[in-house]
Amino acid sequence: MSNFKLTMDKIVNLCKNRGFVYPGSEIYGGFANTWDFGPVGVELKNNIKKAWWKRFVQESQNTYGVDAAILMNPTVWEASGHIASFGDPKMDCKSCKQRFRADTLIENHSKGSISAEAMTNEQLETYIQEHHLTCPHCGSFNWTPIRKFNPMFVTSRGTLEADADKVYLRPETCQGEYVNFLNVQRTSRAKVPFAIAQIGKSFRNEITPGNFLFRTIEFEQMELQMFCQESQSMSIYEYYKEKALEFVEDLGLKSENLRFHDHDKLAHYAKAACDIQYNFPIGWQELNGIHHRGIWDLSRHQEYSGKNMSYVDPFTNEKFIPNVIEYSIGADRLTLALLCQAYDEETLENGETRVVMHFHPAIAPYKVAILPLQKNLSEKAQEFYSLLSKEFMCDYDETGSIGKRYRRQDEIGTPFCITIDFETLENNSVTIRDRDTMQQVRLNQEELVNYISKRIKFN
Ligand code: ATP
Repeated sequence: MSNFKLTMDKIVNLCKNRGFVYPGSEIYGGFANTWDFGPVGVELKNNIKKAWWKRFVQESQNTYGVDAAILMNPTVWEASGHIASFGDPKMDCKSCKQRFRADTLIENHSKGSISAEAMTNEQLETYIQEHHLTCPHCGSFNWTPIRKFNPMFVTSRGTLEADADKVYLRPETCQGEYVNFLNVQRTSRAKVPFAIAQIGKSFRNEITPGNFLFRTIEFEQMELQMFCQESQSMSIYEYYKEKALEFVEDLGLKSENLRFHDHDKLAHYAKAACDIQYNFPIGWQELNGIHHRGIWDLSRHQEYSGKNMSYVDPFTNEKFIPNVIEYSIGADRLTLALLCQAYDEETLENGETRVVMHFHPAIAPYKVAILPLQKNLSEKAQEFYSLLSKEFMCDYDETGSIGKRYRRQDEIGTPFCITIDFETLENNSVTIRDRDTMQQVRLNQEELVNYISKRIKFN
């Protein structure tokens, strides 16, 4: 029976104590909104990334993977519009530490009747004072002065920190697909509709608080850009909405914790946009986005690069710039959702509480733990470790009581624990315990690989 309130603190503590995720640069007092994945966490996240790649690239015949450079020609960020948004007027609420765009606050307050874009910082501040605009998050009237904010991290190439040498850490991976649209189309002889997919790091000078892995300044995106004809675009958009939902449900997120959220405010070039939200301990929040971006991205790259980004239909000879449907999900944010979903505190018959992570076995960090009942069974246990670690990620633990060792494995979500006992020495049979039911069966060595393989697959 489970009866507990899930909080982000519980997840953060478990992650820190069991080796999922540690605070970044911890021995130096940390570094805000950065986190390091530990030995258990890196397995979990890798399994999630592998599952995504398998579903969206390996099993999708018209999708091609790339791994583009993080540092790109700076003109890319002019084409994408990021450089134009440099210096957005931002201010912080000193009470709740949230940061907002001053012009957006004014436009929202005036219900769109005022265009604040062209206002100076002084005019913005005067309006906010005169109309007593309070913090939309906590309701206080406690603002810092307005400051310009840079959404991208900037570094420099060469020895001088001159403007001409500025390079940017990419704030989104998708530009790597757009700039390679012609290359991939040509080398793969791809026919529209086709998608280019990528998993890679993005960097954002985030302006709102992190909430653990939810919002970090460095994170991994798993995303694809589908290039298509305009006439196909809405049905492809709908297709990815469903496929994106199905994927996270298959990974273990419960449907009652998931919902679509259609955007009512669209970018001027966008035809449709939708998030899938997950019910995190901090409330319903975006898990991934599906966006119909029209021909905006390829047209902009055509304009800034001078290269013709058109596609010629081999059957009709029609020449056109394809529409883009984007599907993007953060690997770290999805990892957080799966950690929240998996967490359980069960009250056992003896009144004790068992913390258990009910990950789908396919994404569990370790598939098997090998536990010799006593230390003098180590040699035999090592034999099993050598055999099984060729097939699965295995943990090995011979320290402490068997009960405590089971609890530790429950807390990192290991679906199977194999106990080596004295009978193993006689006939090579072991007990194998199921994490969720805690039931044990006895199996022979040669049955193990098959038994485990069958149970760790997606259905
Ligand atoms: P948000 O509104 O939460 O800032 P966004 O709309 O800016 O997100 P996109 O640019 O569409 O996000 O990025 C796609 C996905 O990348 C998001 O749905 C999310 O899963 C992930 N993501 C975006 N920003 C971050 C971040 N700072 N930290 C972790 N993951 C992020």
